[in-house]
Amino acid sequence: MKFNVITLFPETVECLTNYSILGRAVGSKIVEIQTHNLRDFGLGKRKQVDDTPYGGGAGMVLKVDVLNAALEKVRSDNPGTYAVLLTPKGKKYSQKAAKSLANQRNITLICGHYEGFDERVRDLVDAELSIGDYVLSGGEIATAAVIDSVSRLIPGVLGKDKSTEEESFEGGLLEYPHYTNPREYKGKEVPEVLLSGNHREIEKWRKGQAEKITKKKRPDLKG
Ligand code: SAM
Repeated sequence: MKFNVITLFPETVECLTNYSILGRAVGSKIVEIQTHNLRDFGLGKRKQVDDTPYGGGAGMVLKVDVLNAALEKVRSDNPGTYAVLLTPKGKKYSQKAAKSLANQRNITLICGHYEGFDERVRDLVDAELSIGDYVLSGGEIATAAVIDSVSRLIPGVLGKDKSTEEESFEGGLLEYPHYTNPREYKGKEVPEVLLSGNHREIEKWRKGQAEKITKKKRPDLKG
């Protein structure tokens, strides 16, 4: 799986994706992440990437011609890449969307900054995604969230023993609770069943807990 990221701040994306599980997936070449500095496509001597908004108002707007030049270059090097714009106005990102993106072989993520993009950038992409109902200063953190959540669904990224099948959002459920040592902490004990060694009972307990927690915390997930 290859991710291209068009951004004004490649180092931000690189520092967010260079560690732990994702860093290892990149190291073992299951995942490739290539950043493309939007500034390289800027216009004129000053490599201009943004301009003031028509109609007035605060902040700068990323230029459609600059973003198009960057995307055209990425597309010519990555034929068939699926282009995604990160924007608070996009469709709310979810585990379902992550699974759908995991079926792609090549994804290009476009990070906005400042006031956002010229509206006509929307015509250049295949999808628009928001990672939640809040406003970030730039698309880099949103991009890292997408890359991480999609990558962990790719076979081999989590290692052969770990699967995503029991994780939260699978089958409309939040995951069951986990415990480790110490067995007792400030009066709170590890549930007896987890010490029993009875795998059938443990599985039953975990399923019940997942149902209970989901009903209490996220009733919207079920049904
Ligand atoms: N003026 C825009 C608005 O009100 O919709 C917000 C622009 S925001 C300060 C700059 C950039 O950060 C956006 O263009 C987008 O790429 C990214 N961004 C901010 N919040 C985001 C979110 N919730 N999901 C995805 N990207 C986001």
